[in-house]
Amino acid sequence: MCGIVAYIGKKQAYPILIKGLRRLEYRGYDSAGVALLNGELNVFKRKGKVKELENFVEGKNLDATVGIGHTRWATHGKPDDINAHPHSSGNGRISLIHNGIIENYAVLKTLLEKEGHTFVSETDTEVLVHLIEEYQNRENLPIEEAVRMALKKVVGAYAIVVMDKQDPDKLVAARKASPLVIGIGEDDFFIGSDATPIIEYTNKVVYLNDEEIAVITKDGDLQIKTIGNVEHTPFVEHVEMEIEMLEKGGYDYFMLKEIYQQPATIADCMRGRLNAEEGWVFLGGVEEHSNRIINADRIIIAACGTSWHAGLIAEYLIEDLARIPVEVEYASELRYRNPIITEKDIVIALSQSGETADTMAALELSKEKGALTYGIVNVVGSSIARFTDAGSYIHAGPEIGVASTKAFTGQVTLLTMLALSLAHKRGTISKSYFQQLVNEMENIPAKVEKLLKVNPQIEFIAGEIKDATNALYLGRGYNFPIALEGALKLKEISYIHAEGYPAAEMKHGPIALIDENMPVIVIATNKSAYEKIVSNIQEVKARKGMVIAIVTEGDKVIGKIADYTIEIPDTDEPLTPLLSVIPLQLLSYHIAVMRECNVDQPRNLAKSVTVE
Ligand code: GLU
Repeated sequence: MCGIVAYIGKKQAYPILIKGLRRLEYRGYDSAGVALLNGELNVFKRKGKVKELENFVEGKNLDATVGIGHTRWATHGKPDDINAHPHSSGNGRISLIHNGIIENYAVLKTLLEKEGHTFVSETDTEVLVHLIEEYQNRENLPIEEAVRMALKKVVGAYAIVVMDKQDPDKLVAARKASPLVIGIGEDDFFIGSDATPIIEYTNKVVYLNDEEIAVITKDGDLQIKTIGNVEHTPFVEHVEMEIEMLEKGGYDYFMLKEIYQQPATIADCMRGRLNAEEGWVFLGGVEEHSNRIINADRIIIAACGTSWHAGLIAEYLIEDLARIPVEVEYASELRYRNPIITEKDIVIALSQSGETADTMAALELSKEKGALTYGIVNVVGSSIARFTDAGSYIHAGPEIGVASTKAFTGQVTLLTMLALSLAHKRGTISKSYFQQLVNEMENIPAKVEKLLKVNPQIEFIAGEIKDATNALYLGRGYNFPIALEGALKLKEISYIHAEGYPAAEMKHGPIALIDENMPVIVIATNKSAYEKIVSNIQEVKARKGMVIAIVTEGDKVIGKIADYTIEIPDTDEPLTPLLSVIPLQLLSYHIAVMRECNVDQPRNLAKSVTVE
């Protein structure tokens, strides 16, 4: 949440900053702002999307070769022009952008007010810039030292970049629990919350670690030290990312592009890790810690949002195939209770961004308690990837739509391979069933490709239900988490209230809501509990509910009862989630478009949840 971008070098900063902000807009779009340094310190900021800022600066003097930019997801203070970043010190000398939360801002604010500081915004961030100013004034410190002293007093999470008018050839950046990447150009530097605003110019990057402060100068110097004043040598890495990955590529929305990418992203996730011809599944992270993982007492999965739904599917997969007990936890709950975690447990963290604050904190707790930590993330080099003992990337490529689609199927693909690998090692499934599932995994990308052809039919159904105010999603077994995921997708992007339920639970409450205005989306593939779910559909129809059923190709029964059926290709039961989720993604997408919602940037949401 919150996108940070900065530039120092010989080029014009503004075009680089604004392009970077557009790339980072998925992280927040409450307001956008830039500060440009060219003798003067000019700050331009505006409530709303980056486009508003672009309109606002038209005709203004934007000439500068040093600058910082921010796109906000508000935590403290409403989204308006004043609360927008960058924030400036009282004397107008320093400008700062921030991603995160300064938890002790209230105490610091009171102290600073006593010292005569006046605040103009409601943000926690402004307190930090005044604190830096206070150190600068009091001890006449250079900007990097004033930043270091101020950060020593701060409790919370931050990624910041700071500019000082009286030290104009320098940028100071620091992080703790919020991401920050420095790009090293030919004769310039770039800073971003992730690599997306940087890769157009360079693929050489340094990921800043927690409690590190970087000082970068116009003459090409990069120095890193810790808040405790210990020097660190910058570790330069190369990021592999193509610019096309960040463009819409002819689709109206990133979400649609990402839905359509799934045949390729699922295949990419399996590449080199699963081979049907030779009958093996190989995950490097598992092999490294094979003994510990296969002999684990328990697997705990910590995640939030859509990733938590992928975790629930993993519970079915791992218990069913590998016979290891699994618990799936909301990371935010796990970290704040007093959980029983031992060194015989494996804690798997699921996070698209690899930066989810609660998931990271749950991992820290788990590591402290001696568990082996395993990260399953999409963003290469992210905090979770670097923190965990082992892990696997899902290789879905950048996911820009705020509502997760391809990252979800990537997680489920990875978790299916994990379950298969553990099952094979533990001998809990027969060789022939293992081989059958591995063969079928290889068929999944082609089946998803075929399934995407139902898009026009789904668009039609979307038109029929787009005005509903409530919707119910039902599924059983492997498809219960898909019911939750379908409901979440609808809520997120179309603002229709939706609930996901295990189909049998409907009778214990939600059935009271059913009437002719209530669309009920039932995932009713012809696997175990098929007859039961057919009965559930009958129960909905008896109460005049409108049923949209996701059925297996060739189903002859449900079509006669349901109002609409959407066919998905047949597959083995443990693999159905990889197919059944696709029509639900498309359904939400079309409904949101018809309701004129901003599909990629739904209100109040942002991607990469770096605040708790
Ligand atoms: N706490 C800061 C604000 O509300 C930054 C928010 C964030 O990083 O999401 O402006």
